[in-house]
Amino acid sequence: MEIDIEKAVDEILERVEADREEVEKDLRRFLDYGVPLEQAKEAVINKYGGILKEKKLKDIKVNERGICTVAKVITIDEREVEVRNTKRKIFRGLLGDETAVLPFTAWKDFGLQRGDVIRIKNASSSEWEGQPRLSLSEWTEVEKLDYDIDLIKRTPKKYNIIDLKPGLSGVEVRGKILSIEEREVSIGGETKKVFSGILADETAKIRFTAWKDFGLKEGDVIKIKGGYIRRWRGAPQLIFDENSEVEKLDEEIVIEEKPIPLYKVVEAGGGIDLCIEGVVLDIRKDSGIIFRCPKCNRRIKNGVCEEDGNVDGVADLRIRLLLDDGTGAVDVILNRELSEKLLKKSLEDYLSIAKEAMDYGIVYDEIFDRLMAKALRIKGDSIQSDLIVTIFARDAELLQIDEQKEMEEILMQLEG
Ligand SMILES: [Zn+2]
Repeated sequence: MEIDIEKAVDEILERVEADREEVEKDLRRFLDYGVPLEQAKEAVINKYGGILKEKKLKDIKVNERGICTVAKVITIDEREVEVRNTKRKIFRGLLGDETAVLPFTAWKDFGLQRGDVIRIKNASSSEWEGQPRLSLSEWTEVEKLDYDIDLIKRTPKKYNIIDLKPGLSGVEVRGKILSIEEREVSIGGETKKVFSGILADETAKIRFTAWKDFGLKEGDVIKIKGGYIRRWRGAPQLIFDENSEVEKLDEEIVIEEKPIPLYKVVEAGGGIDLCIEGVVLDIRKDSGIIFRCPKCNRRIKNGVCEEDGNVDGVADLRIRLLLDDGTGAVDVILNRELSEKLLKKSLEDYLSIAKEAMDYGIVYDEIFDRLMAKALRIKGDSIQSDLIVTIFARDAELLQIDEQKEMEEILMQLEG
């Protein structure tokens, strides 16, 4: 019992600023009245709730409530999500102080911008990718402060581009700039130059954004120390800024196109300019002939567009399939051109087949027969998706018989 009280007092003092003896006295009084320990703890916390203790980011653990901290917004992105059939905006990014960098989600618009230093009161934390993630809700108070704070300086960890996952910070990575462009953004009334493009090494490619002019140009091979990875448009993105070091290297990087194991793509939550191979394990039900709105190109149902009402739909052919290479699986979307290439029949062919059979389902059946269990090589980029990493194909080809055999053997071995 005594040990329990000591522990409970420690836990209370982690959350509120108060005198240890006072807290212990209060806690014992509640317990003497027969209040269960957990309830007594909450009651004492409530009593001192007005003065929540400010924590450093490194001291925040998973599943805490009533968190109070001061931190700087390193990155922030707006995202629309559907919660119980209503669309709402959420904001995701990274917060940092001199002790750590943590991911956060804001469930309402606090008007936060990159570079803001804020005092947060009454946030909570959950677990994400093995680390705490701060959650700012309706009940969280956010106050902008007019001073700057230092961000943690630690020895960056070296990564290959293929291993970069959203949420990582303190990243060291080297690569060749395949493209770069400059644009201007306005932050808090101030115009800033931002540089974005594509960086590649021998393992993969990644989009990047540089918030400072490092004098970079296409073809440069560089080493970046102190970068961050966030998720943007369904793929990881590398961010570096005035807190990062960038060094030009006198070396060449040869970019080869070779297939990436699918588990790597799944772990990273997507990627750009991917080359992948696998066996088709499912043809999704929305594959086949679909009709699109002539005005907005949305898929329509029963001649009705959710945006434009009754319209004359335009026929289109598309395939969404599940591709598995034995290490992981992704969805792949094939547009009309690539579908026609793989099926060796045109949309017009399928429209007449469907009209004759008076059933569009016949097209699905044929796609299923032709592609199921076949091995494919796909090139493309991942797109925003909620459930499974989804690749929008730019090129697709059936693998040759021997390659196909090899792929089937890999799958068999992995399935035992
Ligand atoms: Zn429309």
